[in-house]
Amino acid sequence: MSEPLFGLMMDYPLTVTQIMRHAERVYPNGEIVSVTADNPNHRCTYSEMFARARKLANVLDALGVKRGDRVATLAWNDYRHMELYYAIQCSGFVCHTINPRLFPDQVEYIVNHAEDQYIFVDKLVFPLIEKLAPVFETVKGIVVLTDEANMPDTALDNVHCYETLLADASDVFDWPELDEREACALCYTSGTTGHPKGVLYSHRSTVIHAFGANGGESIGFRNHDSVLPVVPMFHVNAWAVPYCTLMVGSKLVFPGPKMGDGETLANLINAEKVTIALGVPTVWLGLLKHLQDSGKTVETLERTVVGGSACPIAIMDAFREQYGVETIHAWGMTEMSPLGTINLPPRGFEELSPEQQSALRAKQGRPAFGVEMKIVDDDGNELPWDGVAFGRLKVRGPWICSAYYKRNDTDAHDADGWFDTGDVATMDTMGVMQITDRAKDVIKSGGEWISSIDLENVAMSHPDVAEAAVIGVPHEKWAERPLLVIVPKPGKSPTAGDILKHFEGKIANWWMPDDVQFVDELPHTATGKISKLNLRKQFADYKLPSTAA
Ligand code: ADP
Repeated sequence: MSEPLFGLMMDYPLTVTQIMRHAERVYPNGEIVSVTADNPNHRCTYSEMFARARKLANVLDALGVKRGDRVATLAWNDYRHMELYYAIQCSGFVCHTINPRLFPDQVEYIVNHAEDQYIFVDKLVFPLIEKLAPVFETVKGIVVLTDEANMPDTALDNVHCYETLLADASDVFDWPELDEREACALCYTSGTTGHPKGVLYSHRSTVIHAFGANGGESIGFRNHDSVLPVVPMFHVNAWAVPYCTLMVGSKLVFPGPKMGDGETLANLINAEKVTIALGVPTVWLGLLKHLQDSGKTVETLERTVVGGSACPIAIMDAFREQYGVETIHAWGMTEMSPLGTINLPPRGFEELSPEQQSALRAKQGRPAFGVEMKIVDDDGNELPWDGVAFGRLKVRGPWICSAYYKRNDTDAHDADGWFDTGDVATMDTMGVMQITDRAKDVIKSGGEWISSIDLENVAMSHPDVAEAAVIGVPHEKWAERPLLVIVPKPGKSPTAGDILKHFEGKIANWWMPDDVQFVDELPHTATGKISKLNLRKQFADYKLPSTAA
């Protein structure tokens, strides 16, 4: 029998500690600018941030945190959150980021399920944690991310001031050598049905994912980039920004609690010469509105990375045509660290007609190397990559979760190890993926699927529409028909007829929404996506004109 011949290369551990060591050595003067609750313009270097991370590591050690323990953060994007990321992860603990906008009962469930030992909380979020403190089962203490002067009053024992703890600690610390398979971060999906599910990232998966996200045909951060992550550090590790940027020494610009504020974002972009910004579509709607209202421009901004939900073409067009900013459409999910696909213009893009370019831009893009994909029908049979057949999208790869944390009641993984994304998609002959819908949002009319995303794209291209969402509502004959719900732009009051006329010729006739309803605002999830679940609840008693009694 023949024997394999193994390579003779080093088994060098892929750990977050190596990213830190590299960044500190090569880019000590890397810049970090933050808006925080106690300072609207905090500035520090990578090397200052890492010195504080070593102090924090000493603090965690003194608090008695042990290898593998979970330490929670409820914090916005700023330098302190970076210190927490690196101190917790490089100490061999798990940085459990929690979305401060979750409902209190979700925070309670998540903290207890993760068995968090300490909670580091932004001053603005402290009232939530203070109220929940009695129901936490494993939490030994709460640290408020501020200085003594800004400490909130509280009757709770065991509440510490972050800056005071750091001030008393040494900035000398010997980081432990870690196994690359050890866990470094934990993030719960928002769990639109049932309890949130924990995704436990390893050092190895985190580093490989960061290599993947930093590649040329990927997000590809550069040393001369000034990076504005509007995607929160509590949402899938801010799409790997805290790792990727430190690998190459980019400048980081953190908006802190002002993430949703178009004016703050525009001012930060201009003051800090931001070249790349990342976030969900809702954020860019806010920025665009502010730019249009104020007449400001964003000269330095070259590109935005948009994902988390389908980016309406109208947003991409407005950025490109009015402000010279390219939109990179990406798709991913918490379970995938998150990068799945990225939509960079392929070779030959310039030769396509404007319509073809637009159709291609609306797609979610080609898989990043490292993510294997397939689409399957209801019986699990693989479907062709012809751009027409659509089915459930399954993935596998080194930065995709193999199981949920302490849960064996989910059927997301099949026997061959593929993970079911819960998305329905097409793949075309060029390997470009397009999401039709989330499986649970798909509209099934007369046995055929209608893509709510396609309809929303058309609605968003109407000049009077600020935001749009399409849901399926029950129909006697067709089982379900699409209902379009619209938030008009301020001062505009289009009629249902105006809106539907705009659809003519742009979609198959039978896809035409059966009705249009106007609302002042749409419900959003804690991560800023339109919540179809809540929208369906809001319209639970609604009857289509054709079926109303
Ligand atoms: P949740 O929104 O449940 O917290 P994630 O943030 O992990 O979870 O969201 C992942 C889902 O978001 C994907 O499965 C997909 O449905 C949707 N999504 C992400 N990016 C895009 C995109 N570019 N286009 C369409 N849908 C997207």
